[in-house]
Amino acid sequence: ENFKSYHLSDQVNKALDVLKYNVPTNVQSEVIPKLLKNQDLIVKSQTGSGKTAAFAIPICEKITWEENKPQALVLTPTRELAAQVREDITNIGRFKRIKALAVYGKEPFSFQKEELNQKTHVVVGTPGRVTDHIEQGTLHLEDIKYLVIDEADEMLKMGFIDEVEAIMEKLPLNRVTNVYSATLPIQIEKLCEKHMQDPIKVEI
Ligand code: AMP
Repeated sequence: ENFKSYHLSDQVNKALDVLKYNVPTNVQSEVIPKLLKNQDLIVKSQTGSGKTAAFAIPICEKITWEENKPQALVLTPTRELAAQVREDITNIGRFKRIKALAVYGKEPFSFQKEELNQKTHVVVGTPGRVTDHIEQGTLHLEDIKYLVIDEADEMLKMGFIDEVEAIMEKLPLNRVTNVYSATLPIQIEKLCEKHMQDPIKVEI
């Protein structure tokens, strides 16, 4: 199997060529076709499995360049992961000129606010700073069609889960939600049950 079987746009295929992603990893061959069909997914997978591209490829494929407000939101437990995910999305979306922005603490709020004022397609951030931007009215959620919660079990360990849930409650109901986690503690299961629509569980 290769990426051609997903019938992705020329722009996304070209980006995968540049990145030398020739063969989908296991998590990618499970996730990509389902996410392209807008299915809610709970994915049990480890870092290093290629999980970032598993959601980044379908999201980049689905982004409409012309829309001004963010269309996808990715929540991560750490700023390092936020920066990494932003970079991966930028690379995969490069030929669609997709703009991804990372928002996290310890970086000036004002810079992020200015960036959010420009066209931004994908916002990647830690729950605290994302909440700040929502409350300040600098991050608009009404056009969010894709929500990814990355490393959900780490979010729980770091005490971010209530903030994550509060963000979920502010998002449009008509959205696709994907949760990635190495383990599935009961609190994560409950969060998924409450805020996802008929999620499919993928275990790698
Ligand atoms: P991740 O699990 O998302 O952190 O990805 C682990 C590493 O695998 C990253 O360095 C990616 O650039 C790389 N990667 C992801 N998908 C592929 C692929 N299909 N082929 C080769 N490398 C990949």
